Amino acid sequence: MPRLRLWLVILVLIAAIVPARAQQPLNVVASFSILGDLVRNVGGDRVNVTTLVGPNSDVHIYTPAPADAKKIADARLVIINGLGLEGWLPRLVQSAGSKAAIVTATDGIAPRKLGNAADPHAWQSVANAGIYVGNISESLSAADPAGAAYYRANAQSYLAKLDALDREVREAAAQIPPARRKVISTHDAFGYFAAAYGIEFIAPLGVSTESEASARDIARIITEIRARKIPAVFLENISDPRLIGRISAETGAKVGGTLYSDSLTGEKGDAPTYIDMVRHNIKALTSALAN
Ligand SMILES: [Zn+2]
Repeated sequence: MPRLRLWLVILVLIAAIVPARAQQPLNVVASFSILGDLVRNVGGDRVNVTTLVGPNSDVHIYTPAPADAKKIADARLVIINGLGLEGWLPRLVQSAGSKAAIVTATDGIAPRKLGNAADPHAWQSVANAGIYVGNISESLSAADPAGAAYYRANAQSYLAKLDALDREVREAAAQIPPARRKVISTHDAFGYFAAAYGIEFIAPLGVSTESEASARDIARIITEIRARKIPAVFLENISDPRLIGRISAETGAKVGGTLYSDSLTGEKGDAPTYIDMVRHNIKALTSALAN
């Protein structure tokens, strides 16, 4: 009899452990580091997130590695920014022979347009990042319905953090004297940020980093800095710092530090998460632009 009871206890323990083990995390690929952080915040323990374009790397000019095809082949979902950011992705998905669903995180965002091209940097407005989070939560729930309540709860708590962050950025931007709310960045990555928070950005490069600045682009920026007394120029973690260094040397505009536009940093950097990135950027801007 005691032996039978022992077996019963063992069976109950096995029954309790096995379902937990059987719950494999959902494999999700995010195209670049900023998106990867948003997906991790919503997906939590139920999701295994890998990113293709890692920290301090440029998503515009990315060349996929063989390991990326393997990541995509193993994924249930591939979450991308869209708006033309990942021009290299369709070929990669095709060559990987992947059956993963492709989810566009910017669905529902009205893109900022530059001629015919959409500006892909929608995440630079914190309100837009909230739309990304909603899309991510819905796509994870569709792929893993048993986790729907969990994803919704994670999304709600992260959205509350984004709301607080958005207020923080607005309040900080409002402290900058209006005549000084203008800076130079390397490429045109802050259009959504500018529209949301009222700081003007002028860049020698367009919305992509694919082409180099011409002598004429640089001359135009130098003229504009002098004519409009633009107080500061900023480096980026994904771009060659020499261009901004040269513009600063010719105009006397100070280098206000680094802005993180398209990529997070590693754990020990200034911007290991999306929230850290936005907070770092607004601090760098307010300290460079204060009187
Ligand atoms: Zn960019």
